[in-house]
Amino acid sequence: MLNFSESPKEECGVIGIFAPNEDVARMTFFGLYALQHRGQEAAGMAVADGQVMTMHKGIGLVSQVFTPSTMTELKGHYAIGHTRYSTTGSSSLRNAQPFMIETIHGPLALAHNGNLVNSAELRRELMVQGVGFSSSSDTEVMTMMLARNGGATWEERIKTAMKKWAGAYSLVILTRDCVYAVRDPWGFRPLCIGMLPSGGHAVASEVGALQTLGCEAIRDVKPGEVVSLSNNALKVMQAVKPEQPSAMCVFEHIYFARPDQTWDGINVHHVRQRLGEELAREVANGLSHGLTDGSGLVNGLYSGLTEKNGQGFADVVIPVPDSSVPAAIGFSHVSGIPYNDGFIKNRYVGRTFIEPTDSLRKRGVALKFNVINENVRDKRVVMIDDSIVRGNTTGPLIKLLRSAGAKEVHVAITCPPIAHPCFMGVDMGRHEDLIAHKRTVGEIREYVGADSLYYLSVDGMMKAVQRKDGFCQACFTGQYPIPVDLMSVKTGFERGMK
Ligand code: SF4
Repeated sequence: MLNFSESPKEECGVIGIFAPNEDVARMTFFGLYALQHRGQEAAGMAVADGQVMTMHKGIGLVSQVFTPSTMTELKGHYAIGHTRYSTTGSSSLRNAQPFMIETIHGPLALAHNGNLVNSAELRRELMVQGVGFSSSSDTEVMTMMLARNGGATWEERIKTAMKKWAGAYSLVILTRDCVYAVRDPWGFRPLCIGMLPSGGHAVASEVGALQTLGCEAIRDVKPGEVVSLSNNALKVMQAVKPEQPSAMCVFEHIYFARPDQTWDGINVHHVRQRLGEELAREVANGLSHGLTDGSGLVNGLYSGLTEKNGQGFADVVIPVPDSSVPAAIGFSHVSGIPYNDGFIKNRYVGRTFIEPTDSLRKRGVALKFNVINENVRDKRVVMIDDSIVRGNTTGPLIKLLRSAGAKEVHVAITCPPIAHPCFMGVDMGRHEDLIAHKRTVGEIREYVGADSLYYLSVDGMMKAVQRKDGFCQACFTGQYPIPVDLMSVKTGFERGMK
């Protein structure tokens, strides 16, 4: 499968709907469409009518997985849906979500955004008790735990399970007559609630999906809460104590979420614009303090900064589309360097299941990006990007700009160097895969072939987010909100299921 993206891989998108007298499968389909950016490898939904539960899931985009005929089979007024990027579990159909099983309490389906850090241990415990598994997904572990837990109600069974789950989980759970929305006590992954014009309710990873359904956004599911959607009423239970401080993934602001998303009154597009502004200030500050190295590392975040860069060190600011557009606008605004488009992105390449020929594969990012030659020719360009993970895409993008006639290419990244893996549901690879784990900023600059390279500081990032705490920053700092046994988390869990 082709994957041209250098940014961290999206996690997953989830949606849950209770809508009496409505075509809930069709609503879920359109909600999933609005969450497609959070996962493009598989999609699925389960629907219940008060008695019977049906499910359809498959590999591919939402529009590839669901057809008019599959949708007509999905009848009912309770539904959950999922778009998947594989985090724990390989990409095969058996790992696609929701997971649906029959239990002694009736049918149960579950869809998950996140990653449990103790799933290997929980899975082993269940296997010792004789439970078998058909996938390598931690979501199946969660489903089996719910099915086996004692308790008179699903709320009680969910609460019992939450006490054992460690890690990131924003869940939607479907029973024959209720949808539950569940968020881990750290609040790693988002989950918000809205009210449908018909009086029903919906929950989704992002408000954009709720707006697509005509919902009025009510509030976020708070860390540690279980919210039940049924009979036109919302029932909220604080199942486990929220952790203090909370640890929402800061990458939601930097890259994952759609720009129309707002959390606690802070809009993602505005955060991204401020990330660019802060970066421009830090670069100018570095220059004004005469940080001149020319070759190596300066205070850990700049490399290639030379006197000749000076103020106005570039003629044009260009974004790597799409997520870096607001940051490039912000960078231009503060630096005074004019903004322009440099790359045109082919939005239809994305992830494709058609393997390219060898000669096409060699063209790499050129299959996805074309350069507007006239906007970069004979110019000193500063290219704004949201992150460098493995370092495989930045170099080819710089080469494209140079072949189009750019005189110099400077690179400015709107987050700090990613030197530590994520165990909470974002696929960045292992320590050894991360270029900033192995190399200094100076060495990264040389590796990607930039004239200079700038990273935003952690402080600058948090200024842009307008918060001091309440966010996970572990991939930059190595300080994980949960003690993580690095050896047993993801790789250990997947062993044996490939
Ligand atoms: S480690 Fe990074 S990507 Fe993972 S949850 Fe924390 S901030 Fe998000």
